[in-house]
Amino acid sequence: MLVDVVPVGDVSAQVKRQASAALRSVYDCEVTIHESQSVPTGAHDEKRDQYRAEEFIELAGRIGSGAKNIAITPKDLFYRRRNYVFGLAYLDGKGSVISTYRLQTSSDGGFSNRSASDIFSDRVRKEVVHEIGHTMGLEHCDNKRCVMNFSPTVREVDVKEENLCGSCQRIVL
Ligand SMILES: [Zn+2]
Ligand SMILES: [Zn+2]
Repeated sequence: MLVDVVPVGDVSAQVKRQASAALRSVYDCEVTIHESQSVPTGAHDEKRDQYRAEEFIELAGRIGSGAKNIAITPKDLFYRRRNYVFGLAYLDGKGSVISTYRLQTSSDGGFSNRSASDIFSDRVRKEVVHEIGHTMGLEHCDNKRCVMNFSPTVREVDVKEENLCGSCQRIVL
């Protein structure tokens, strides 16, 4: 399987590197980094001053060269009634997205001995693995350590690991 990472906006080399490393490690897939894209026109919601996640998924699915594709953006995303999302994907879809915007928030997860940069990298890794998991047909998992656990706040992201639990592995690997 090939996963294409599509940077949308100004995405750092660190983020691209961490995202591809995590995807390779968990799914044993090939990963390519697409040429950077500009933010889709029409994605910005003026009232909320946030960006519609669906537009990024559509872009990644349309221009990505992988069987699965994930947009990564520094823009703050929302979806329907949720105030913000770290990422979004449709079950068995071809495109997905994560936003690094809210992953930079300082940790309250009790890992203060680690640098902010390491904590941020881990969150990026977990979020890309999570969204690609959805595109492979995985739903949310009750196991709090599993990367497919639903994590609406960084605290929950910090608690989970970047790997799939045994049950999720049996479905996709
Ligand atoms: Zn999810
Ligand atoms: Zn699981």
